[in-house]
Amino acid sequence: MKRLPDELRQQAETLLRTRISDAAVSRKTGVPRGTVTRWRNELGLPSLRITADSPACRHGHPWPENMGRRNTDWAYCRACARARKRAWLGPAQPDEAAIERAAAGDRPERLTPRERHAAIARLDRLRMSAREIAEVVGCSKRTVHRARSKAAA
Ligand SMILES: [Zn+2]
Repeated sequence: MKRLPDELRQQAETLLRTRISDAAVSRKTGVPRGTVTRWRNELGLPSLRITADSPACRHGHPWPENMGRRNTDWAYCRACARARKRAWLGPAQPDEAAIERAAAGDRPERLTPRERHAAIARLDRLRMSAREIAEVVGCSKRTVHRARSKAAA
């Protein structure tokens, strides 16, 4: 077995004491996860692994009220999933200037999905084809079709 430098172990142990997960310590130090777990056990620190018996998710959402299941053994936090989706969607109030620019073919650096859909709707009212809209907005035709069916619903 390859010997890992002592500094690396020192660094990993310092991180472990700040109560971050084995996976995060592994990512930050490059030490294999199994080794990190062994070192944590040697330090006598409890695992941060979230199970069905945990009182809350790692971000503090009460468990198991917020527990969702994608299949029999993969649990996830529904509150965290909602927060991720909100962050991805961007602010509830879309930026009018961004929509204006996207509809004019001058795509801003950051266009949220809401703004993209609004720009598509604007061009749709001009009776443009999906291919034309996709070209102007800089998205796929599939996105245009999805935006249309969402707007119709
Ligand atoms: Zn959560």
